[in-house]
Amino acid sequence: MTKTDPFIQNPIEVQKKLIENIAAYPKPARIMHICGTHERTIAKYGIRSLLPGRIEVLSGPGCPVCVTPDDDIDTAIILAKKGLTVVTFGDMLRVPGTEESLFDARAEGADVRMVYSIDDAVKLAAENPDKEIVFFSIGFETTIPTTAAAVLRGLPPNFSVYTSLKLTPPAISLLVQDINVDAFIAPGHVAVITGTVPYEEFAEKDYPIAVAGFESYDILLGIKMLLDQLEAGTSAVENAYMRAVKTEGNPIAVKMMNDVFDVVDVEWRGLGIIPDSGYRLKEKYQDHDAAIKFKDTYEDSLNELREIRKKKKKNCICATILTGKATPADCPMFEKACRPESPIGPCMVSDEGMCHSWYKYCRD
Ligand code: SF4
Repeated sequence: MTKTDPFIQNPIEVQKKLIENIAAYPKPARIMHICGTHERTIAKYGIRSLLPGRIEVLSGPGCPVCVTPDDDIDTAIILAKKGLTVVTFGDMLRVPGTEESLFDARAEGADVRMVYSIDDAVKLAAENPDKEIVFFSIGFETTIPTTAAAVLRGLPPNFSVYTSLKLTPPAISLLVQDINVDAFIAPGHVAVITGTVPYEEFAEKDYPIAVAGFESYDILLGIKMLLDQLEAGTSAVENAYMRAVKTEGNPIAVKMMNDVFDVVDVEWRGLGIIPDSGYRLKEKYQDHDAAIKFKDTYEDSLNELREIRKKKKKNCICATILTGKATPADCPMFEKACRPESPIGPCMVSDEGMCHSWYKYCRD
């Protein structure tokens, strides 16, 4: 963005104009975003309340903590309780697994630590050669390159990665088969890495796409672009985040990911197993793949937890919220039993979770 950009010169007027243009769209429209940061901005600035009721903005599976399935959370907890040191990002510590969270496991004496990046975890391994360090790696294309870069730099022998990494376009492919949506807002930070090309397949299937940034005006501009396309009966990938996103993305980051990972089918909370929607370390790095290295350590306990999970009554509707079929207001526990300080499901844990954003910004 430059100083001559109209947003900088008069952001209020520009946004008023965008809202007027959006309101002029005469028909109903269902627009979905797939990004927790977009949801936070939409909730914070009350963007839904500024739009005519006929224009719905749905929230999809965009929070990396929220889409991490129970199996992966339980595996990390089992490994910690079996004596390994499990390190991950802060939000993951609080997400409930089948019986407890990593935080609970730590309270019982397991060695669970919070880090801000994989580099902190690698440093911990180098400084503690007598410990086995497992980095529980979650996230989308936005953060995956940092894990790839660490692997390419070389890892200590006592360091391994448990991957729960997700790729966003396959999730859109699944959603379009299942829900009634007219157009998508694509996540700007993901497109900084991947570029806009991976979204072209959806435009070819008649879904307008707008890649948007994270300020209120970025999202309003993205919605306006989508409505213009719907009105014209066209479908293309448009870039509402030109100050950060290039068509080709960041080829160096993409090459690093391709060098380190194979694309595999993975499970998403709420969406099940989606073909080609995640990453696994390539065979040449399997000495650092915790899912291979410690499979015998966690497999039996994980199977036991799966059986317990099948019998448990699930009151949390995060899985439905992640597919845009419900909102936090549909959950009887929202703001009552489930609050940020005592979260029952992952959507209340992370500040990118829809329940957390609605708790913070959308209550009377
Ligand atoms: S409010 Fe809590 S229990 Fe309800 S869906 Fe959200 S995270 Fe789950």
